[in-house]
Amino acid sequence: MSTTKETRPHDTGERMLALAAEMFPWHRSITGAGLRQTLERIATEIPLKLNEVPSGSTALDFEIPLEWTIRDAYVADSSGRRVIDYRASNLHVINDSQGFRSLLAWSELEPHLHSLPEKPDWIPYRTAYFRQEWGFCISHRQRMQLAQRGPQERYEVSIDAEHQPGSLTYGECVLGSESEEEVLIHAHACHPSLANDNLSGIVVAVTLAQLIAHWPRRHYRYRFVFAPATIGALAWLSDNPNASQRVRHGLVLAQLGDSAPLTYKRSQRHSASIDSIVTRVLRERQQPHRVIDFQPWGYDERQFCSPGFDLPVGRLTRSADGEYPEYHTSADNLSLLRADSLDDSLACLVQIVRTLEEDVVYRNVSPYGEPQLGRRGLYAGFGRTGPAPQLQKAVLWLLNQSNGRRGLLEIAERSGLDLELLRRAAELLREHKLLEASNTGLQTRAC
Ligand code: ZN
Repeated sequence: MSTTKETRPHDTGERMLALAAEMFPWHRSITGAGLRQTLERIATEIPLKLNEVPSGSTALDFEIPLEWTIRDAYVADSSGRRVIDYRASNLHVINDSQGFRSLLAWSELEPHLHSLPEKPDWIPYRTAYFRQEWGFCISHRQRMQLAQRGPQERYEVSIDAEHQPGSLTYGECVLGSESEEEVLIHAHACHPSLANDNLSGIVVAVTLAQLIAHWPRRHYRYRFVFAPATIGALAWLSDNPNASQRVRHGLVLAQLGDSAPLTYKRSQRHSASIDSIVTRVLRERQQPHRVIDFQPWGYDERQFCSPGFDLPVGRLTRSADGEYPEYHTSADNLSLLRADSLDDSLACLVQIVRTLEEDVVYRNVSPYGEPQLGRRGLYAGFGRTGPAPQLQKAVLWLLNQSNGRRGLLEIAERSGLDLELLRRAAELLREHKLLEASNTGLQTRAC
């Protein structure tokens, strides 16, 4: 199997960390300036085209919302001191909050506060997407301190935010090839100052695109999509109704910078080529890892794997969503990211992509019923000479499974047969003009 370390500068992990640190303070949301600023920054690293989808457009069953702008937000006490200050952390205001301005008693303000009693020092990350709400997020310890001032204590509450017709932005980087067949790499880009979820996925995807862009040859066209979660993926799918004809393999990337082992979530199809290839690569790396089954929640794999599209898209993370204590809190900050984890995630992805490129896909040119194998000396009938039993099985599996989409690795996984045996059988069937390669696989090392 390919080795991957030799082609990446030794400081790749540090560079990914630096890019994440640069973008960390920006106030991303599903629309607006922070999201656009993030995508514009990515566009300085890779050839990224920004698509603007106007507010009010249809995105399958959803509608693109009004664009959100926020300038400032605070709660000030009677002395004018800001006791909650958006300038200290953009997590303090609920993402996509309505604008609001009033003088309120504590008892009126408190129902609009969010905190985590079980994690009293962390600020939760909350959103008001597709709801008309305003509110603040604070540490539970601070909430208790403010509560001690009494229910009649009055506060000046200000959220200088508005929703106006504008657009939702998503970015696409397409690395072309002669083939129309695509590999889709997707990372969500809507979380504000949170590091593992989602900046780690973004910086690893950017760096993977930079590496692939330098490969002298590639079979697949690579499409990297950076979009707000859910609504951005739906907007992309809505703009790409023929995706299922093009996308041969896909991966959703998130949470790739913490210290947990890699976790692969299978596609809905369970045993698509991408599933076989990622599980094989994870096994071969001989490092702790997990492979989990598809569930229709999590990140945007659930959109790509919805029955109308049913794309062969799995998901690679380290910790899974909701699984690590810092998830969706202020503790998911840069201290959670490790350069070696980012680099290890990238190395695994490079190995996955190389394996995809090297996997040969065949098509049975006589797919209607079984071709007459005996006449060609390919059938070991009763008492007759022919291929050895294992080779015979490989011949039958190949004829049955070679639909022009399944690679040898997927057939190896399904049949339990050795890859080398399948290669020999495929060669035999090619000599007899029963199989033809629809993707010859790139046998030369690409970089
Ligand atoms: Zn999230």
